Amino acid sequence: MNKIVAIDGPAGSGKGTLASIVSKACNLVNIDTGATYRCVALKALRNNLKVEDKEEIIKLSENINVEFGLDGKVFLDGEDVTDLIRSKEVTTIVSPISSIVEVRKNMVELQRRLANNNDVIMEGRDITTVVFPEAQYKFYLDATLEERANRRFKQNKDKGIDMSYEEIYENIKARDYNDMHKEVGSLMRTDDQIYIDSTNMTIDEVADKVIKIVKGED
Ligand code: C5P
Repeated sequence: MNKIVAIDGPAGSGKGTLASIVSKACNLVNIDTGATYRCVALKALRNNLKVEDKEEIIKLSENINVEFGLDGKVFLDGEDVTDLIRSKEVTTIVSPISSIVEVRKNMVELQRRLANNNDVIMEGRDITTVVFPEAQYKFYLDATLEERANRRFKQNKDKGIDMSYEEIYENIKARDYNDMHKEVGSLMRTDDQIYIDSTNMTIDEVADKVIKIVKGED
């Protein structure tokens, strides 16, 4: 079996940055599964669909083509949508869209295909439990809600995304609830994950810890 490093955790816990550092240090293909759900959300918005238009969204998720390029670039049906999928509009509807059971089934298939024949690091909400429960390395990355909102606020500012701290805090709080109460693929802690609370750690400290474990130096 190819090497699989699976990371789950709530929004803003630092999974994306961590995966990017570890992928380079350990020579792994980096697959951001949240981006696959964000692509479905973006395509739904472009088709003027609302979260309630379940059947149309399911259909759309059956035929979507998501690819990951170098340096974390995300392509939807061939178009570079790396920045577009981080917009406020997408962020607001992505969690309810990802709760649709059939959408999850289609995205899990897509994510498994993306990992085919590669050594990968994959981050999301259900990677350690549903997508790759047999992964050799399973992590749960956590931090307090306040700290996660703070990090996302700084990150958005750097990217020029205009959202207030309060808006981000409420969005993350709502997503936490939604992500932990899904019919299928809920975010959850299990006994076989390595739990890391990053609230008082720098991203480099977290990355060092994970790299040592993946390289077998710990
Ligand atoms: O990680 P990110 O914030 O980009 O994910 C966007 C949304 O996609 C999350 O709020 C979550 O609802 C959903 N998601 C999911 N399962 C995953 C990854 C993300 O349901 N494996």
